[in-house]
Amino acid sequence: MPPPPSQTYRGRFAPTPSGDLHFGSLITAVGSYLEAKHHHGEWLVRIEDLDIPRTTTGAADAILHTLEKHHLFWDQAVLYQEHRGHHYQQAMALLGKTSRLFGCHCSRRSLRQTPCYPGHCRAEQLSLDHHAVRLRIAPQTLALNDLWQGRQQWALEQEVGDFVIRRADGLCSYQLAVVVDDHLQGVTHVVRGSDLLDSTPKQLYLQQQLHYPSPHYGHLPIALGSDGRKLSKQNFASPLDNSTVTDNLFQALLFLGQKTPVALRRSSPETLWQWALEEWQSQRVPHQMAIPVESISWIK
Ligand code: GLU
Ligand code: ZN
Repeated sequence: MPPPPSQTYRGRFAPTPSGDLHFGSLITAVGSYLEAKHHHGEWLVRIEDLDIPRTTTGAADAILHTLEKHHLFWDQAVLYQEHRGHHYQQAMALLGKTSRLFGCHCSRRSLRQTPCYPGHCRAEQLSLDHHAVRLRIAPQTLALNDLWQGRQQWALEQEVGDFVIRRADGLCSYQLAVVVDDHLQGVTHVVRGSDLLDSTPKQLYLQQQLHYPSPHYGHLPIALGSDGRKLSKQNFASPLDNSTVTDNLFQALLFLGQKTPVALRRSSPETLWQWALEEWQSQRVPHQMAIPVESISWIK
């Protein structure tokens, strides 16, 4: 895929096909789409099926179908991570040259009490082949101006720690796959939910190690369910109803702080999109990490 010409915008939406799209994922899709289109950019869709057995192919198809129903049309062929193992291997090989990789045999359980990997296996020289592989972090601080969350700063050793880039079962980690794909797809702007803000320093660090330029980042507020947790398949966020497209989009726009005229709630999706494309204002998106859906009286 050719890189975008300089000065252009290429955004993306990268759902994991573990279930149907719900209101929380629609917010990210709509926010990333409108940001890209507002900048006359492209909007790509990538299915992050790295860790998902083939049997959920149905979920990926259902996600794409729902996006189309909501008039969220992508600009290039959909990318499936499942087929991209060789790219991740190449990046692993490059990282191997930095001498920052080490094998780790710590169990998840033994690390549960420590927010940051305490470096147990750094000096053990375990083989990389039969263990999880971690990337040794350098004592440095990384910073970012996030479009909605403002200035972010991370002291890598204290707040991030050595992180896994290949699991013991040989599967590439989410962090590495996303960094490789965002780079190879020429993504210039990453717009996603604030629940991924914790991953951002890891991705910035990987970009640095791989000599990739870093894209711009914007983390949107996430929608919280009545249990105070992120809307997700785990807390039974209901799948989007494809028969109420205008209503779904209307609510997503309101969640994103746009002053959508109430009359448009009865309009066609085309009319609503036309309004949104013309009137989108990114600074209206609440500069918050999370918003309880229930606190927004107009979302029923
Ligand atoms: N696949 C991730 C998710 O569905 C999103 C990854 C990203 O946007 O960087 O949560
Ligand atoms: Zn370890």
